[in-house]
Amino acid sequence: MERLGADLPADSTAGGVAGRLRWLLTTAGAFVRGSILPPVGSLALLFASMVVLDLANRIAADFGLGYLVIVAGYGVFMGTMIVARTHHLLAYGLCGFAALVITPLLGGVPVPLIVATPMIKTLAVVLAAVIMRSRLGRSTDLARPGVMWRFALVTMIGLPMLPGVTITLVRVWIGQQHIMALLPGIYLANALGCAITAPLVLSLHRGELHAALERGKRLGTVLTLALLCVGTLAVFELSRFQMLFMVLPLMLVVVLRLGLLGACLGCGLVAVIAICMTIAGEGPFSVMAVSPGFQNLRLQIFLAVLCIQSYPLAVVVQTRRSLEMGLIVRETRARFAEAKLRASEELHRALTENASDIVSRFSIDARRLYTSSSVTHILGFKPEELAGQGGLARIHPEDREAYLAVADQMRRGVERIGIVYRHARADGTWVWLESRLRMVRGATGQPAEYISNARDISLQKETEARLDDAMAELSVLATTDGLTGLPNRRRFDDTLRKEWRRAMRAGVPIGIIMADADHFKLFNDTYGHQGGDACLRAIASALVSCTRRPGDMAARYGGEEFAVILPGTTPAGAATIAERMRDAVLALDLPHAHGVHGIVTVSLGVATMVPERHSGIEALLGAADDALYEAKRSGRNRVVAHTGVIASTAPESAPAEPEAIGNVVSLRDPEFRNIA
Ligand code: GH3
Ligand code: MG
Ligand code: MG
Repeated sequence: MERLGADLPADSTAGGVAGRLRWLLTTAGAFVRGSILPPVGSLALLFASMVVLDLANRIAADFGLGYLVIVAGYGVFMGTMIVARTHHLLAYGLCGFAALVITPLLGGVPVPLIVATPMIKTLAVVLAAVIMRSRLGRSTDLARPGVMWRFALVTMIGLPMLPGVTITLVRVWIGQQHIMALLPGIYLANALGCAITAPLVLSLHRGELHAALERGKRLGTVLTLALLCVGTLAVFELSRFQMLFMVLPLMLVVVLRLGLLGACLGCGLVAVIAICMTIAGEGPFSVMAVSPGFQNLRLQIFLAVLCIQSYPLAVVVQTRRSLEMGLIVRETRARFAEAKLRASEELHRALTENASDIVSRFSIDARRLYTSSSVTHILGFKPEELAGQGGLARIHPEDREAYLAVADQMRRGVERIGIVYRHARADGTWVWLESRLRMVRGATGQPAEYISNARDISLQKETEARLDDAMAELSVLATTDGLTGLPNRRRFDDTLRKEWRRAMRAGVPIGIIMADADHFKLFNDTYGHQGGDACLRAIASALVSCTRRPGDMAARYGGEEFAVILPGTTPAGAATIAERMRDAVLALDLPHAHGVHGIVTVSLGVATMVPERHSGIEALLGAADDALYEAKRSGRNRVVAHTGVIASTAPESAPAEPEAIGNVVSLRDPEFRNIA
């Protein structure tokens, strides 16, 4: 209750019961307006049109026609009830009923009919609405043959019987006339009302009038209807010539041009003109010397014939038109699809033919099925020259094995394959191709073929080769001493490690010679730095000339110091080579004012050991260095060999003083052999 109260207007909560009642009415009003009440304009239009048409009929009857020719308002009511929304039916029904009640009250209608007519007509209208909507929903397209048949049988022929018979019986009962004198006219009046105005309402509801008055169609529609009106007027004006049949071809033109809308609109216009002219005493129906009732019946029969001619024709015309529309739509769609397909084909061809890659299709057994024309640009062959098998001869001999392996993978149905190979050009040169193959499955999911995309990578390969050369050159430069051309310290260290491991595995000795130019500082001071450089180059080639075995390597160790690796060399062998080196430098006979004998000389230290563990390298180098120091100390231009056992657990850096060398044999030890 509290929640409900919260929604109420302030005064309603205060006002208690009265306030709540007001709220209830407001809510109900909103509900009715939103769901069961159609727009007020529509209700007013229905009411007004029914009253106006009925009044017009009554005036026409009073002016000499005797009784009604067409009950047009009844048709408007029926049409509205067929097309209305289901929840609006009650409102429209009550509105139509009210309109039917109003006109008889204006007078001229027998009292029993004032009650009976609206009721029976409303019943007929409700029945028509129920029957028409039960199968077809709110389908208002009378051009559909099924709808038209049902509409004709129910609303034009069947249900007008109800008011027709009722009104006749009431009039006979009150003693007006004989039944057969009344029934045809009353029935036809109701039937024509339904036949002309009800389809017109349906047509208007479908927006057909709006479409017919669109820009471009407007003039044609107006002229066609004007032609019908003028023709009909002329026919009724020229009473004496009995030209009534002329209305039929005019109506034909209207129906052919405007379809169903033309049929009901045309029939309505002809009816209005015919009724007006007959009242005015013009036209074929007025000149006939018959009773007014019979005159009216002839007019009604004429209008009924007009309807019977026009409606089926309108259905045929409209069906044909919609078939044509369907055909046009289908044709346009097909043409559009074809154009789209052609455009996509052209795009694909343009892509494959103009791509810089070679696009190919291969069968599962590696037969070439298609090659894009770009192959001519890359290989110089025409696509057809490459068709089929037997392309192996055009593959570089070194790549044939890889090529055959790819063919094997294709036979096995591998999804994606890649290969880089050399293919012959038409001019006999080779081109590097990088080809990527993708398997395509058939409708059954089985491997069907391969699509290959091959790219010319010759330029890339060339660049790669140049890069490799540059890298090799760079690596040589990085490991060579620029001054002497000998391997540098880095290469010396690498080679020593390798040779060390090899000697360790083989259990053979490895020898090291350390050579140092004597009094070289003084040489530089005397002959200049450039002279020093030239001297170092000469010493280097003298040392190299003494290494004979392929494994021997003389390197520049740093400054004016050189180191030589002698793999698989015994201590005696190493000492011999060192001695040979000393002789070779002597033999250069390079003057050195401050040298040992006035010429350039070197001092050499030799050490040899059979490697046992990696850390022994430093010990071996240390021993050779110690021997060199000993050579310097004992007078230079000589070879000193370390002949003792070299301990492999030497400390990582050489000690400053020889005596401090832990387990390494002291330099003053008798184990150093002065060879010179
Ligand atoms: P010792 O007989 O005791 O070896 O005396 P030394 O003068 O040769 O020894 P020291 O180590 O005092 O001097 C080495 C000199 O070698 C110093 C340096 O000027 C020279 N030197 C080192 N590298 C080069 C080089 O690349 N070119 C030239 N021209 N001289 C160098
Ligand atoms: Mg030195
Ligand atoms: Mg020196």
